[in-house]
Amino acid sequence: MKKNPIWLSDVLAARTRVTNIICQTPLRSSLPLSEKTGKNVYLKLENMQPSGSFKLRGAANAILCLSDEARSRGVITMSAGNHGKAVAYVAKIVGIAATICVSELVPQHKIEGIQRLGAAVIVAGRDQDDATEKALSIARKEGQTFISAFDDRFVISGQGTMALEILEENPEIDAMLVQLSGGGLMSGVALAAKAINPAIKMIGVSIENGAAMYESIEAGKIVPVEEVPSVADALQGGLPFDNKFTFDMCRRFVDEIILITDEQIEKAMAFAFRQERLVLEGSGAITIASLLLNEPKNVGGNIVAILSGGNVDVDQLMEIVARHDGLSS
Ligand SMILES: *Cc1c(COP(=O)(O)O)cnc(C)c1O
Repeated sequence: MKKNPIWLSDVLAARTRVTNIICQTPLRSSLPLSEKTGKNVYLKLENMQPSGSFKLRGAANAILCLSDEARSRGVITMSAGNHGKAVAYVAKIVGIAATICVSELVPQHKIEGIQRLGAAVIVAGRDQDDATEKALSIARKEGQTFISAFDDRFVISGQGTMALEILEENPEIDAMLVQLSGGGLMSGVALAAKAINPAIKMIGVSIENGAAMYESIEAGKIVPVEEVPSVADALQGGLPFDNKFTFDMCRRFVDEIILITDEQIEKAMAFAFRQERLVLEGSGAITIASLLLNEPKNVGGNIVAILSGGNVDVDQLMEIVARHDGLSS
């Protein structure tokens, strides 16, 4: 029997802790998306975090919770890119060593972004399972603290701080559209949002191929998925079988999951750039893709779409923008 050990009070404590490192991002209303959907659509601009994604919230909370002794041994992690960059960013500010293990699927520009922050990057294996194994074995030998990208109580509480900002600015929100991969973002945001207002609907948005959390919730247990390349590279990867928090929390909190194709994500990236003047990576734009398909349907009139990150290769974005007019869905 596992119990939910993370509470709103953990999120409130995280907020005080991370306030000097993260940025309170804008909640901006979107005229084009409101017109398209007939609802009031707000965008939470996490692409504007200094590390380029919301992952900074969880990484900051996890690292600031470490003892001086643990800090002196450094931190290590496995990442699809953005968590690694966030850990590297916080480690640089705090002045500790960081090692980031990535798989061969992680784009080169994300590896370079991490290295520029002074962290060591180790490319290990074809998928995230291989890279995780590498990180854990180094940690066992050298003593660094391993910080999971999503299945960690401090990471989850850190991500939850975003929900506090959203609901302080607009207490009328009826539904939140949240990227769903390992489920750290969803768990934290849903925990805080439903603690404040249990009527809020939590809608997960995942990639169609390799949606580990969706497949696992459907099956009622954690199932393996194949990791296939996607324009939403931050949403790839399986759920480890020893998952402690996010599977149970997502099962409990998520009201609906919408699956999106790569083609739809590309259209949303072009829409964001052309209509909203926003630079988003595929994962960040996937919630917009859902709105462009007129999903979700059965929710109230005030929707917030989280735009989780903007770490995209600029040449790739320009190529995608050139191929799509950014108007139709
Ligand atoms: C990590 C990440 C996600 C997914 O977060 P999970 O906690 O793994 O569900 C979504 N978008 C971006 C940009 C990310 O970096």
